Amino acid sequence: MFGREVIDKAKGMVEDKRSEIVELASKLIRFRTVAPPGETEECAQFVKSYFDEVGIETIIHERKPKKTNLCAKIPGGSEGTIIWLGHLDVVPAGSLENWSHDPFEGEVVGGRVYGRGSTDMKGSCASAMAAAKVLASLMGRAEVKERLPTVEFWFTCDEEIGAVDGVRWLASEGLFKGDVCIIGDSFGSLPTDPWIDVGCKGYIRVLLRARGKTAHGSMPFMGENAIDKLVDAVGHVKRVEDYPLDLPEDMEPIAESSTQFLLGSLKLTKAQRKAAQRLFRYPTVSLNIISGGVRVNVVPDVAEAVFDIRITPGAPIWKVEQVIRNLLRSSEIKGVEMEITGLEEGFYEPLDSQVVQRMMEAVEVTLGTKPRPKVLTGTTDGIHIEHTSNIPCVGFGAGARGLAHAPDEYVTVENLVMAAKVYTVFPFIWAGKA
Ligand SMILES: [Zn+2]
Repeated sequence: MFGREVIDKAKGMVEDKRSEIVELASKLIRFRTVAPPGETEECAQFVKSYFDEVGIETIIHERKPKKTNLCAKIPGGSEGTIIWLGHLDVVPAGSLENWSHDPFEGEVVGGRVYGRGSTDMKGSCASAMAAAKVLASLMGRAEVKERLPTVEFWFTCDEEIGAVDGVRWLASEGLFKGDVCIIGDSFGSLPTDPWIDVGCKGYIRVLLRARGKTAHGSMPFMGENAIDKLVDAVGHVKRVEDYPLDLPEDMEPIAESSTQFLLGSLKLTKAQRKAAQRLFRYPTVSLNIISGGVRVNVVPDVAEAVFDIRITPGAPIWKVEQVIRNLLRSSEIKGVEMEITGLEEGFYEPLDSQVVQRMMEAVEVTLGTKPRPKVLTGTTDGIHIEHTSNIPCVGFGAGARGLAHAPDEYVTVENLVMAAKVYTVFPFIWAGKA
């Protein structure tokens, strides 16, 4: 086991890099890696040059030109590999009038770094860059290196648009090989109130297609109105939101604290609080696309609706699918078919798993406060690492609450330093116990 001194030294070295981390975050924000198209080449080159300066080995992986993924590797002397994963692409800034800071300047004001991608997630990327430098420096000493595993830091593209040229591809190529993966895309922690992500929800996308018979709008009884059928069917399918999910026992405490996180971090009306309390115990059902009809005087013969249904990890998705099929069948509406257009199981790591335990400890040792676990309502790149690369994931990051994809997005300097410290300390905790 590593003694307290090494960990304190690591934390101190990160603390000394406070202004460097802030500057890195600002600089990363200035690269307009907006996806689509999500060209990360220049930004990744900047990250590479930072590592080149101190002799950290990097490898570039590109499936398409300009869609750059970068891996920085710090070889350890003991078995195993720890992976840190983040993404360099960002979502568009949206209407500029909603911003009081330039979204691509990385302005530092009042202990905050503003800009698109600050929270999601160039801030955590900056923290990881600094952590890698500190680790490399500490691992320059043989007695440290020989006891630590290899640590890889991955900076990827395309997370915001389905990861086709990013993690999805990297994972399918078998490029991730490790024992644990830290997902940097994580929001909501404060140094005094840290949270770790132990999983994310899965989803099922359901399309309903109603078919009817066209007729003149003045003689509707001569046709069969597809929109009428669809509206009727939609009402039946929506009832799946009242189907209680079968959660495994070890998911219960995670569902509970995930709910607490949301209740504590969002300003909610009474109705929203009620919905939040159901969020991990029932599927969420959102009817997000509806289409049909050609002219105001024509009875429509086809109409479609697409649902986005999210399911807590551990609860079997196939059961939810079955409930939907039964609801549709028992509605006895004729001429409505159902198609699953997307399905992805979520994942979670149990609280007593090695990855969760070690991350809990790393956060507690670093911040002096035990973190609480939560699962994400959306998906992250972790899903591909879990499902394709079979590496257990745990999330921790600098991101602030409720600011991902929002105008005036920022990350606090305190959170940047916090994440950098945890990323630096984690390998020591992992090595001490693994
Ligand atoms: Zn993200």
